[in-house]
Amino acid sequence: MNIVIFGSPGAGKGTQAQNIVNKFNLYQVSTGDLLRNEINNKSQTGKKIEHIISKGDFVTDDIVNSLIKKIVTNTNYRNRIIFDGYPRNINQAENLEIILKSDNQSINFILYLKVSRDIIQKRILGRMICEKCNKTFNEFKDEKQIEKHACEKKYLIKRKDDNKESIITRYDEYMNKTKPVLDFYSSRSYFYEIDGNEKIEEISSKIEQILTV
Ligand code: AMP
Repeated sequence: MNIVIFGSPGAGKGTQAQNIVNKFNLYQVSTGDLLRNEINNKSQTGKKIEHIISKGDFVTDDIVNSLIKKIVTNTNYRNRIIFDGYPRNINQAENLEIILKSDNQSINFILYLKVSRDIIQKRILGRMICEKCNKTFNEFKDEKQIEKHACEKKYLIKRKDDNKESIITRYDEYMNKTKPVLDFYSSRSYFYEIDGNEKIEEISSKIEQILTV
């Protein structure tokens, strides 16, 4: 099955995707992670996009679509992809349909995490990511888990774009460009809206129920 996990920045898409990857033998593709890898590897693309991402603007569709195409057409990931952070506008949503169709694949579940604006801000400002295993924590509420984390505290970093200024741009980009994708998807029988304000475990269990039906 292929899944699109959809929602605003800080909605918990990455956290929920990580939770179901192992249970359902899926491959998580986060366009944000792919783009950050380009920056860390100092590739040509990385150099072009570093400033765009730090401001909270969108990277061009050409760049993102071509990264996605490589994953969709890779036979190792066939029909087991969870798309996290893609599509982010109508053009990308249409592109996804085209590349999946041309490879005889389709989207089987669209999971929309609906979260209030104030919770989004708290989650993003507290976010810490382990450089080693990619697990996400919140520095304000996960103190115990952070202390116990197997990879050690020194690997926990903050994303450069997780600051008050770029949150505003990222949220505006979401409202103007990504939210319309909801209308594109919401009438489909495999579209599910989930209350993303709840606790991580509660959201995960709802998602598991949906995927096992
Ligand atoms: P994320 O990790 O999903 O929060 O994405 C971090 C940043 O990467 C975004 O604020 C954008 O600058 C960029 N980005 C990620 N995914 C996309 C996408 N599908 N289209 C355009 N830009 C993206």
